[in-house]
Amino acid sequence: MQAADLDALLVTDLLNVRYLTGFTGSNAALLVAADGEEESAFCTDGRYDTQSQRQVPDLRRVIDRPCDVALVAAAADAGIARLGFESHRVTVDGHTLLASTAPGVELVRAPGLVEALRMVKDDTEVEALRMACAAADRALADLIEHGGLRPGRTEREVARELEARMLDYGAAGPSFESIVATGANSAVPHHRPTTAVLRHGDFVKMDFGALVDGYHSDMTRTIVLGEAADWQLEVYQLVLAAQAAGRAALRPGAHVRDVDAAARDLIERAGHGDDFVHGLGHGVGLEIHEAPTLSRLGDGKLSAGMAVTVEPGVYLVGRGGVRIEDTLVVRDAEPELLTLTTKTLVVV
Ligand code: ZN
Ligand code: ZN
Repeated sequence: MQAADLDALLVTDLLNVRYLTGFTGSNAALLVAADGEEESAFCTDGRYDTQSQRQVPDLRRVIDRPCDVALVAAAADAGIARLGFESHRVTVDGHTLLASTAPGVELVRAPGLVEALRMVKDDTEVEALRMACAAADRALADLIEHGGLRPGRTEREVARELEARMLDYGAAGPSFESIVATGANSAVPHHRPTTAVLRHGDFVKMDFGALVDGYHSDMTRTIVLGEAADWQLEVYQLVLAAQAAGRAALRPGAHVRDVDAAARDLIERAGHGDDFVHGLGHGVGLEIHEAPTLSRLGDGKLSAGMAVTVEPGVYLVGRGGVRIEDTLVVRDAEPELLTLTTKTLVVV
């Protein structure tokens, strides 16, 4: 806020409010003063009076709605001149309303300030990510052990079983719509599970995760049913090597584009550059996709404590594809791997 010359920041993104206060309800906003807590205030509505008393005991609470209007009025009362707002989240209509609420307060665009803080996870956050990743690891292990991946089952059945097993291991839910893609469908990066049937010799690509304490895990494994053909082994080994190169490039100070390139170069040199159609990875935390973005278009450098995915893929349209994805935490030495399921090709 000092760098942006703000007297205060109006936080209206609910996840950013949660990150800063611990509040988990569905409606809130936060006024953060640059020079102390006196003018700071938390706002929610009457449904969350009791809950916010417990979760946000250390801030002045305002029970009113709409919360953003109430807090801009509070900012005006407190004599705040330059008020930053989350311009990447506020609608045009919302901005018009806020501006008319307190004409004396200058509304200053301040996108992404809290998101920048959220990139580096503290121990409590990493522990939640660890638990989320463990639930996904255990769900997949159980699925395989109990014969859940076999010819004749549908993608939807497999997805539902994975999700049910994650719930058994403490997940509040899946962290996003699970991807189970068999045969040629595995060449579609974000395929939605259908009634397509798993067949002998298919690649089965599963991209899924668990939600624990608000934190999302993200893992992809690709297995082969029955017996792997030579072309499948070749593609798998290439993606595996690229994924290892991407993980090895995760170091504090590394530019996100260089991390992407570490994996992409291998795939390009093998002649499959055009078959790797997305970025290498993304930050993960209170959102399944958050900063930083590890891609050719990404910007910025890694820091210790950032939680990111590394997920190269090679997709051969009409035949099948492989993606291998881990969730990791950048550390000073080597990155900490949170998704522990083997990456050796599993043939079931
Ligand atoms: Zn994923
Ligand atoms: Zn991902």
